[in-house]
Amino acid sequence: MRIVLFGPPGAGKGTQAHRLADRMDLALIATGDIFRANVANDTDLGREAKAYMSKGELVPDDVVVRMVLERLDEEDVHHGFILDGFPRTLPQAQALENALAERNRPLDAVLKFVIPDEVAVKRLAGRRTCRRCQRTYNVEFKPPRVEGVCDVCGGELHQREDDSEEMVRHRLEVYHQDTEPLDFYFWERGLLRQVEAEGTEDQVTERALKAISDLAEGD
Ligand code: AMP
Repeated sequence: MRIVLFGPPGAGKGTQAHRLADRMDLALIATGDIFRANVANDTDLGREAKAYMSKGELVPDDVVVRMVLERLDEEDVHHGFILDGFPRTLPQAQALENALAERNRPLDAVLKFVIPDEVAVKRLAGRRTCRRCQRTYNVEFKPPRVEGVCDVCGGELHQREDDSEEMVRHRLEVYHQDTEPLDFYFWERGLLRQVEAEGTEDQVTERALKAISDLAEGD
């Protein structure tokens, strides 16, 4: 299956993307994670993306699209994927649709995670991210077993520069302006389901799986 997840920062997309990819045995493509890895390794792509990321702005479409299309042609992606954080603009959505049509591998489902802005702000203020595997924790709602250390890979946890309250509010504005309107684009194509993103991780995963199976059955 080929699935897109979108929603505001703080909706838990990254967590759910990992869970769904594991449960459904799909490749995970998370554009924010790819950019952060490139920033950490100081690559050309990382240097280009960093200027935008550190301001909470979107990286230009041509840069992101090129990166995702290269990834789509890698071996592990052929039997299906979860896309987390892409597309985020209309030109990205069109580029993805065209690329998948050329490869005869259309999308099966687009899930829009929905959460009030104030809940997102609160969640992100306490979020800590693993430098190594990018898994996320929350000092209040989901602390790691050992403070500052990732339960899964043992990497160091830190607060992302763009998770400060001011930056989160700006990222939410960018989301509402540039990304949220994509719901209509995917709704017109019969691909969209909304998923309430409040509740436990298990509850949200169950809602997401149900939305995917409803779409597969054409409900
Ligand atoms: P995320 O981890 O998804 O919150 O992404 C972190 C940052 O990476 C965003 O604030 C953007 O600067 C950049 N980014 C990730 N995905 C995209 C995308 N599809 N289009 C443009 N910028 C992106």
